[in-house]
Amino acid sequence: METAIAQLKEKRLLAPRALDAIPAPRIAPLIRSTGYYNQKAIKLKNFLAWFAGYRYSFARLHGVDTERLRRELLAVSGIGPETADSILLYALGRKLFVVDAYTVRLLGRLGIIGGGESYHDVQGLFHRRFRGGVGEYNEFHALIVNHGKYVCRTRPRCAECCLSRRCLAYHQQGADAAHAVAG
Ligand code: SF4
Repeated sequence: METAIAQLKEKRLLAPRALDAIPAPRIAPLIRSTGYYNQKAIKLKNFLAWFAGYRYSFARLHGVDTERLRRELLAVSGIGPETADSILLYALGRKLFVVDAYTVRLLGRLGIIGGGESYHDVQGLFHRRFRGGVGEYNEFHALIVNHGKYVCRTRPRCAECCLSRRCLAYHQQGADAAHAVAG
């Protein structure tokens, strides 16, 4: 991600209006480092077409209520709940918990969810139980991502995990068997 941002910065394309002025095939090589870059370039253009409706102004977005923004973002081709909520939380400071694959895997292994829950169900758990503000939502999600990348990985490092005492997968199946829990 940092590489892609550096590339866009170097080409003076970090401003939304400037980026929207060039076609997706010219954006794609600049974000190659993020993977699936052709699809992402098209999604980015779809997002920018939506943002153009607000004249690329974050100040204009700040005046719109969260539910409406979320509805509009979800109507943009290529934007799902995780991306919409990431934009709303990280770019606009709206209090929405972002549910990603790391979150679902961790909660499943801990025994907090069973595996069949929808995005909305999992997000609702956080919204009901976690009392933090926008800053804490932001940090909590970042901590889960970090934990999922370095400790509770596809092959988890349970011996290093601060959550092992509370982890259903660890207790039910032991540290070795926890490796077999769906990642
Ligand atoms: S004990 Fe193992 S399976 Fe459980 S949360 Fe920690 S790393 Fe993940």
